Amino acid sequence: MSKYVYLFSEGNASMKNLLGGKGANLSEMTSLGLPVPGGFTITTEACIRYYDDKETIAPEIEKQIFEALEKAEAAAGKKFGDPSNPYLVSVRSGARASMPGMMDTILNLGLNDEVVEGLSKLTGNARFANDSYRRFITMFADVVMEISKSNFEAEMDAVKEARGVVADTDLDEEAMKEIVTRFKATYKKLKGEDFPQDPKVQLMESVKAVFRSWNNERAIIYRRLNDIPASWGTAVNVQEMVYGNMGETSGTGVAFTRNPATGENKLYGEFLMNAQGEDVVAGIRTPSDIQQLKDVMPDVYEQFCEICTTLENHYKDMQDMEFTIERGKLYMLQTRNGKRTAAAALKIAVDLVNEGMISKEDALMKIEPKALDALLHPGFEPKSLASATEVAKGLPASPGAATGRIYFDAKELAEYVRETGEKAVLIRLETSPEDIEGMVFAQGVLTGRGGMTSHAAVVARGMGKCCVSGCSEVLINEKEGYVVDKNGKRYNKGDWMSIDGTTGRIYGEEIATTEAKIAGDFETIMAWADETRKLKVLANADSGKDAEVARGLGAEGIGLTRTEHMFFGEDRIFAFRKMIVSETLEARQKALAELLPIQRQDFYEIFKAMEGCPVTIRLLDPPLHEFLPTDPAEVKHLAESLNISADHLTDLIHRLHEMNPMMGHRGCRLAVSYPEIAAMQARAIIEAGLKVQEEGGKVMPKIMVPLVFDKKELTFVKKIIDETAKEIFAQSNKELHYEVGTMIEIPRAALLAGEIAEDAEFFSFGTNDLTQMTFGLSRDDAGRILDDYYSTQILETDPTASLDQNGVGQLIEFAVERGRKTREGMSIGICGEHGGDPASIDFCHRTGLSYVSCSPFRAPIARLAAAQAAINNK
Ligand code: ADP
Ligand code: MG
Ligand code: MG
Repeated sequence: MSKYVYLFSEGNASMKNLLGGKGANLSEMTSLGLPVPGGFTITTEACIRYYDDKETIAPEIEKQIFEALEKAEAAAGKKFGDPSNPYLVSVRSGARASMPGMMDTILNLGLNDEVVEGLSKLTGNARFANDSYRRFITMFADVVMEISKSNFEAEMDAVKEARGVVADTDLDEEAMKEIVTRFKATYKKLKGEDFPQDPKVQLMESVKAVFRSWNNERAIIYRRLNDIPASWGTAVNVQEMVYGNMGETSGTGVAFTRNPATGENKLYGEFLMNAQGEDVVAGIRTPSDIQQLKDVMPDVYEQFCEICTTLENHYKDMQDMEFTIERGKLYMLQTRNGKRTAAAALKIAVDLVNEGMISKEDALMKIEPKALDALLHPGFEPKSLASATEVAKGLPASPGAATGRIYFDAKELAEYVRETGEKAVLIRLETSPEDIEGMVFAQGVLTGRGGMTSHAAVVARGMGKCCVSGCSEVLINEKEGYVVDKNGKRYNKGDWMSIDGTTGRIYGEEIATTEAKIAGDFETIMAWADETRKLKVLANADSGKDAEVARGLGAEGIGLTRTEHMFFGEDRIFAFRKMIVSETLEARQKALAELLPIQRQDFYEIFKAMEGCPVTIRLLDPPLHEFLPTDPAEVKHLAESLNISADHLTDLIHRLHEMNPMMGHRGCRLAVSYPEIAAMQARAIIEAGLKVQEEGGKVMPKIMVPLVFDKKELTFVKKIIDETAKEIFAQSNKELHYEVGTMIEIPRAALLAGEIAEDAEFFSFGTNDLTQMTFGLSRDDAGRILDDYYSTQILETDPTASLDQNGVGQLIEFAVERGRKTREGMSIGICGEHGGDPASIDFCHRTGLSYVSCSPFRAPIARLAAAQAAINNK
């Protein structure tokens, strides 16, 4: 028989997959001899069984749960449901990967009408006993029965108002009893039955509810954002309660061994006296700084600091801990490697190496590559910032700068940004897990309540998003959608505001932002990554300026220049349109002659910026209709310059229309129809290269032919390129080394890679097209379709964002093998979205590719991911 339940004394930290992160660490802390309330963990496998068994808990698992409960009761010397000496527990979720606040917790379980009386007598504190009971009723109703908490909050407010009391802590024993009575009545009214009195029923219902919470909406969204598979399931921890709400010598708190925003090596956190559980993070009362615990309870503070040292030395990483003090005695309720901002991650990793705690490789493995993105985002432009006026100040909860139109509803904000692509800032009194999607789309988040460990702060730091929390200087009206600053000025939904998560300052205007640069700890980590990685990192860039940025971010060349992107400028698109609608070779050549100097200058600038590095230039690729005019005025203008009638031009445009442009007249097909286009581009490349070479620069042009499905296409285009080059060399009496290669982006090309390599000096996998054509799924329509595939769990990740290693990956492996069989050691890379995706980069490393190419701002991410791939696959 499988073992589904483990006492904390039976597990350890290496059992995360089975016990979940929280459970495994509770076990580990127990074996380190730290003060952890006893209990047991129901495994993730039990959760998977629960779903396999049609959402029921098998009798054998239930039996193991009650056996473990008996052992835990015996160890504590108490009894579940016994009014004279009750054993009370919390029921806590805990998946393999930490998902803060995404799933549910129930506290004070085991209380009922009799036990609450017993607990009152036993503790001599009826206020406390009833406070615990009313909390339990609320949590049970919310989590198990899906009765919204607001029903209970309303009752509580009514009692407070009737008694003229503001803070929860001012409610006395009588008030708490009245609240319990009202809560039970509310429960019965809404549920149609009494609040369950049997602790065993309470327990089993709660365990099931935690299993169910694995599939609640916010958990599903969180999983998708963090690449956590649905198949993992969550564990459930059942743990003896300790009480932070027993009076003024009791309290509860959360702390980090180092500052999670900056990485500074100094205890960081918050606590509240006479409080329980989520009170600290819920932002209902404003908590005190952990340093103040030194004055309130010096002995406890000292013990806590010792535990912090023990845990850091043990886990060799910054810890995020939850603790409770019950009548002067400290208990540890949770520890985990703390989430941190990217800046903090870099500092902590470098510090830990310098402190001799970890190796450089360990340090590289500690940093989430995607998190670096936050450091590559803008800060405020100093001049604009200097002229801006601060209108309020809150807590600097997550660094970075954000400017945008303000929104007070997360869903509305997400819609606005999705539709317009504009910048927006989310303003909320406090955030809850329901706001997570809006936070993803926001530039930054501002909350009126809550501390540095509030939900908004923790989640924003995890996302690398700027956040100012607890800004009590502003008055926020979520319902009507406005905010009033400290001077009384009102800002409505859609107005501009800017927030600075590093200083906590709020501005009532738009402020220009600037790009970040790599320095300090960032530079150190990047240097370590470069020593470690095997893959080269190139960038996709379409201009000299982009190429310069890419070089600054560590790119070692250009893996993709999209020549069609060079034609988007206003002066250029006109010449380009003339070329497209040309009806004769002559007319086309005339238009191409106009484009030649423009292209040559662009290539010259890119070669200059990338001197000494390879520059891969792709010949014209796009579906032509993307460039055709649709606006009648533009059609007229173009027709006039071509000396034809507007009607005739409209006719031409209609003729160029394709049913399926992505699979239409594009890529090398254009060069096959119009060799003069390829000739012009080859000329521009070679001439630009010669010019840089003449000026003493080293150039390495790689001319890339897109969208081939057959070797003969490549032979055809290569001949045009070589003839053009030969002609230029003969005329100018100069030479330039260049390579001709191809993109592998049609499945047929992957299958015939062995033949194609006879002509291709290099390959680059265009994984955007290769994915779309292998799946037969249009990139432009994928979003809508994929949503249904996620909700049915047919797909869990987006194959357009992270390479489908299972399917598309096989084509790549096959093509690499065949290509290199023909041409030993040939250079092979990928370009496209996947080039900056860590999981895809790991695949590229394993497949023996030479390089990945990604957008310039992803280059540092790719450098780190490539180093991690090298370490992981040693
Ligand atoms: P989450 O994963 O959302 O942080 P937890 O399971 O950690 O949820 O529970 C939330 C809070 O509930 C804890 O931080 C702690 O304050 C409180 N809590 C949980 N278990 C106990 C317990 N056995 N005794 C006292 N408080 C508890
Ligand atoms: Mg929590
Ligand atoms: Mg917790």
